[in-house]
Amino acid sequence: MKNFMWIFAFLFLAAGTLFAEETSSKEVILLMGPPGSGKGTQAVRLSKEMHLPHISTGDLLREFLKNPPADQKEHAAQLKAMMDNGKLISNEEIISLLKERIAKPDAAKGYILDGYPRSTEQAEALDKLFSPNDTLVILLLDVPDSAIIERIEGRLTCFSCQKTFHKTLSPPTTPGVCDSCASELGQRSDDVREAIEKRLKVYHEQTEPVIAYYSKKTKVNTIDATQKPDVIFQELVRIAHKK
Ligand code: AMP
Repeated sequence: MKNFMWIFAFLFLAAGTLFAEETSSKEVILLMGPPGSGKGTQAVRLSKEMHLPHISTGDLLREFLKNPPADQKEHAAQLKAMMDNGKLISNEEIISLLKERIAKPDAAKGYILDGYPRSTEQAEALDKLFSPNDTLVILLLDVPDSAIIERIEGRLTCFSCQKTFHKTLSPPTTPGVCDSCASELGQRSDDVREAIEKRLKVYHEQTEPVIAYYSKKTKVNTIDATQKPDVIFQELVRIAHKK
């Protein structure tokens, strides 16, 4: 009799787990906008507010470049050259990187994407990962190109925690040192004028069609990202909570 009770309890728990997995829904927030529109900074804050992980495909690539496996050093050098040139990495590679990341347990309830999708092919691949119960919130940070060049040229990045500062607009308390984790700050190799101009061109040509793609399916919430960071954040939170 005791054995039956154990078997029954096991079956009950297993069915409960399966049912929970089937009915669980994800909340996915897309932070879109040109390079330098403040996606990364806002995504970090939004991640804490919404209790969802911040997933930046640019950060995933930079993480891979820091310490590539011995047999992938050549490939890593090619990726770095493309990034320094403001070119997009192949859809195939980015989609597989994203799938691997969102399969991790912390993304089970949803995630905030920063820098993905950058092409309609990437958007279509993301669509295939959704189930009917999932919610999608699209936040578009709008900034004119002229403001972006000034922002990115003066950007300082912490290579350890990814927090960003600006040489004059939001300098760190101690020059060259991250306020958050005390690591050294520096300029990203693609944060130079030539690369910024290329990245903006790529954004207009390849990523703006993604906004048109979503506009046909759902609401795209456009936020004036020339406002103060705190004001932008309040607006993002209001929209994300409203869903
Ligand atoms: P980010 O940190 O988002 O500015 O990305 C830096 C660089 O990484 C971009 O200029 C691209 O070379 C590459 N990258 C990041 N995300 C993607 C993506 N979704 N698709 C293709 N390339 C990407």
